[in-house]
Amino acid sequence: MTIIGHLINGETRQDKSRTQDVFNPATGEVSKQVSLASKETVEEAIAAAAAAFPAWRSTPVGKRTAVMFKFKALLEQHSDKIIELIGDEHGKICHDAAGELQRGIEVVEYACGAGQFLKGEHSKNVGPSIDSWSELQPLGVVAGITPFNFPAMVPMWMYPMAIACGNTFVLKPSERDPSSTLFIAELLKEAGLPDGVMNVVNGDKVAVDTLLHDDRVMAVSFVGSTNIAEYIYKTATDNGKRCQALGGAKNHAIVMPDADMDNAVNQLLGAAFGSSGERCMALSVAVAVGDAAADSLIQKMTAGMQSLNVGEARQKDNDFGPLITKESQNRVVGFIDSAEKDGAKVVVDGRAPKVEGFENGFFVGATLIDNVTTDMESYKNEIFGPVLQVVRVETMDEAMQMINDHEYGNGTCIFTRDGEAARYFTDNIQVGMVGINVPLPVPVSYHSFGGWKRSLFGDLYAYGPDSVRFYTHRKTITQRWPSSGVREGVTFSFPS
Ligand code: NAD
Repeated sequence: MTIIGHLINGETRQDKSRTQDVFNPATGEVSKQVSLASKETVEEAIAAAAAAFPAWRSTPVGKRTAVMFKFKALLEQHSDKIIELIGDEHGKICHDAAGELQRGIEVVEYACGAGQFLKGEHSKNVGPSIDSWSELQPLGVVAGITPFNFPAMVPMWMYPMAIACGNTFVLKPSERDPSSTLFIAELLKEAGLPDGVMNVVNGDKVAVDTLLHDDRVMAVSFVGSTNIAEYIYKTATDNGKRCQALGGAKNHAIVMPDADMDNAVNQLLGAAFGSSGERCMALSVAVAVGDAAADSLIQKMTAGMQSLNVGEARQKDNDFGPLITKESQNRVVGFIDSAEKDGAKVVVDGRAPKVEGFENGFFVGATLIDNVTTDMESYKNEIFGPVLQVVRVETMDEAMQMINDHEYGNGTCIFTRDGEAARYFTDNIQVGMVGINVPLPVPVSYHSFGGWKRSLFGDLYAYGPDSVRFYTHRKTITQRWPSSGVREGVTFSFPS
C-alpha cells in the first residue's frame, strides 16, 4: 500500500515507524497510509529550513517571484491531477475542488506582486541631512498547520506569501487527506525553489508540538477547529512566537421578510450543503425574521432540496460528496438526533441517504431542521455537515443579537432588498466577514481572511495585506550623512 511521506530539503521520504490510514470517504475503504513524523524528523525539516534561510532571504525579490509565476503555471498545468487527489481523499466533487484550487492560485498570483508590497517607505530630510526609511524583513523559519477541509487552498493561504516575503517554511498538513498538499509542494521544486525553502512533514500532535516548542520557528499560522486553535495560539505565544490561529465557525444568514426568496433559497442551498457543509464559511443557520418569511423559506428550501445529488467526487452531476470520516458522519447524525430530541422539527432528513454503489461511504444527505432554538446543542456547536437549521425570530434586532451572542464570528450574510437594513447590519454585526445577498463572503486574495471572537486567535488575518505584516518584521533605519566639514556639538536632550 502507498505510504505518503514528507518533503524535507527537496527530498521525499517516509517515517515507517508510525503510520495512519487514509480513507476514500466515498467507499469507506482504506486507500493509502500516511507517515506520522517523529520529533527527530520534524527537527530535520526545521534544520533544512533554517539552513536555506540566509540564501533565500538574500535572493532578489524578482527572482523569488519568478518562482511564484512558474508555480502558478504548474498548478494550472496539473490541475486535473490535483482535483482528483482532493476528490479521492476529501470526497469533494470535482467542480468544487476546482474552485478550491482556483482560490489557492489567486493567493499565488498575489504573492507574485511581492516586489510591490515589500517596497517599504522612505522619508527624506526628517532632520538636517537625515533620511529615514522602513523596510520589511523576513522572519526566518515559519510554520503552517492546516485542516482537512481545504487541503490545497488553506496551505496556499500561507506558504506562497511567506516564501515570497523571503521566509522558509515547514508545513504540517492534515493527516486525513495529505496527498494533494504534498503533490502541490513538490511542484515548487519544479518551479525552481531551492531545496529546504519549502518542507512538508505529515503527522499528528507529535509534529505540531515539535514545531510549537522549537526556538528556530519564528511564527506559526494555524487553521482548524477552535479548541486546537486556542491551544496552538497559547503554546506558540508562550514560546515567544508570532501566531495567527483561525478556528471554527457557526455562520448565520438573516432572511428578511423583504428578501428575494427564490434568490435567497438558491444561495442557501449552495452555501449550506456545498462541500457537505465542511467549510468554515458554510451557512449553517438561517434566521428567518417573521413567520411568513420562515414558512416561505422552509417550503422553497424543501422543494429545492429534492433535486440535490449526493455522491462521489468524480461525477460532475453530483452536488456534494461524503463526509471525511466515519466519526464525522456519526457526529453529524448525532447532532440531527439531538435537535430532534430537543424539540426541533426535521423537515428534510438526510440521515440515511441511498448512494447506489457506495453503500459504505461516509454520506449524510442534505438536512433541513425547523424551530431550532439557541439553547440546543445543535445550535451552539459547529456541526460541519450538510445541515441547515432554521431559527424563527420576530425582529432583525433579535436576529442580530443572536449572532452577536454566539461564541463564533467567522462569516455571516443578510438577504434583503433594504439598503438601510443592510448598512445597519454591516455596521453593527460582530463578525469578521459579512455578505449582503452574498452567502459565502470569502475575501479575494488582495483582501485578508479572518473572523472575530473565537473564530480567530491573534491580530492579523490570513493572506492579502495582513499576511505581509504577519510574515515580516518592520525595521526602520535613520541615517545621517553630514555635509563635509559640518560637525554637531554634544546634545543631551531628546532628538526632536
Ligand atoms: P482540526 O483542528 O482537527 O485539525 C487541524 C490541524 O490541527 C491538523 O493539521 C491536525 O493534525 C492538527 N491537530 C489536531 N488535533 C491536534 C492536537 N490535539 N494537538 C495539535 N495539533 C492537532 O481541524 P479539522 O477537523 O482538520 O478541520 C475542520 C475545522 O477547521 C473546522 O472547525 C473548521 O471550521 C475549521 N476551519 C477554519 C477555517 C477558518 O478559516 N477559520 C478554515 C478551514 C477550516
